[in-house]
Amino acid sequence: MSEETIALYGGKPVRENYLPYGKQWLDSSDTQAVLNVLTSDYLTTGPTIEQFEKRIADYVGAKYAVAFSSGTAALHGACFAAGIQKNDQVITTPLTFAATANTIRYQGGNVLFADIDPNTYNISAKAIEALFTNKTKAIITVDFTGQPVDYEQIQKLADKYSIPLISDAAHAIGATYHKQRVGSLADMTMFSFHPVKHITTGEGGIITTDDPVYHQKLRDFRNHGITRDQNRLAVSDQPWYYEMQSLGFNYRMTDLQAALGLSQLNKIEDFLAIRRAIANKYNEAFHELDLIHSPYQLPHTNSSWHLYVIRLQLEKLNVSRTEMFRALQKENIGVNVHYIPVYLHPYYQQLGYQKGLCPQAESLYQAIITLPLFPKMSEEDTDDVIAAVKKVLSYYEVLS
Ligand SMILES: *Cc1c(COP(=O)(O)O)cnc(C)c1O
Repeated sequence: MSEETIALYGGKPVRENYLPYGKQWLDSSDTQAVLNVLTSDYLTTGPTIEQFEKRIADYVGAKYAVAFSSGTAALHGACFAAGIQKNDQVITTPLTFAATANTIRYQGGNVLFADIDPNTYNISAKAIEALFTNKTKAIITVDFTGQPVDYEQIQKLADKYSIPLISDAAHAIGATYHKQRVGSLADMTMFSFHPVKHITTGEGGIITTDDPVYHQKLRDFRNHGITRDQNRLAVSDQPWYYEMQSLGFNYRMTDLQAALGLSQLNKIEDFLAIRRAIANKYNEAFHELDLIHSPYQLPHTNSSWHLYVIRLQLEKLNVSRTEMFRALQKENIGVNVHYIPVYLHPYYQQLGYQKGLCPQAESLYQAIITLPLFPKMSEEDTDDVIAAVKKVLSYYEVLS
């Protein structure tokens, strides 16, 4: 074992103050943008929403974008627009935030969890195909950590069965697949603007799509199912008349949020560049360690690096992931774990999902730790994370 006592056992931590795993970047241009709207005529449902939607659609190369009050609300909208109903099956990955699967449940659908590919950690096309039945009505993929799924392969499956592909790209704004931006690769794509994500609106989300029918449904859905479109009204000619044609929600984004989003978008290329530089630095630093696996990247993809996840080689370490996690926390490194396989949560267990359903996801979950990664991190912060990982690993290394 190494000489240096780790902080967990009373040694001096690698750094004095706690480094969080993620954090937003706001500057005076952001505050000014919000203030401008705050003193304007429209706080919500005004012109800034449309500007934001247009900018996002242009950025990802999609025809339409519909903003929502959260990424979760947006994904719920996508499930609605895709026509998911009671007892329909939707296939998704277990290695995601619970919201992905929950939005299927909101529509009364049944969630089929397809196991991950052990190299990319993304949903496996083979596993998806094995789950298909005639009740399967959609696939929701997740670009885990910002690495695009194999869109070509999965789109082929969706086409073969004539069902829509919905992409949960909460991690993946700015990521590319064969040089094409995520957001234009699936039938509908969701981005989240929660503060830990690449750009923030406080809370917020959006769906991008090329399909005018989905676009319409998404717009209605976020506003109680109400339309004022003269061409679609069943009855009237009255100037004040509108119709609620489906059961929607109040899932609207405010103009204050959209203003923040627009101003954040001005910085997105910088945010992405810094995230990629930090990930490269981690990759280089960890390259020669055989105690952990660095994230594998599929050729022809360029990750947006929302998260940097290391996989411990537990058989080479005298430590469990839990203790390793505690040890890094004690070094003042804000590590995290993404994710608990969704079906292991009590709500899904009560629905009857069994442990062992997706062995790859479960075994990955036992060994992963997410390292801090956000644009405001300094060189020293990154060096501290690397030093802490190396210090703790060498302390626990099994010496043969
Ligand atoms: C953040 C996130 C969501 C939910 O987005 P919110 O904006 O927080 O509602 C959904 N899926 C994934 C994978 C996420 O990371």
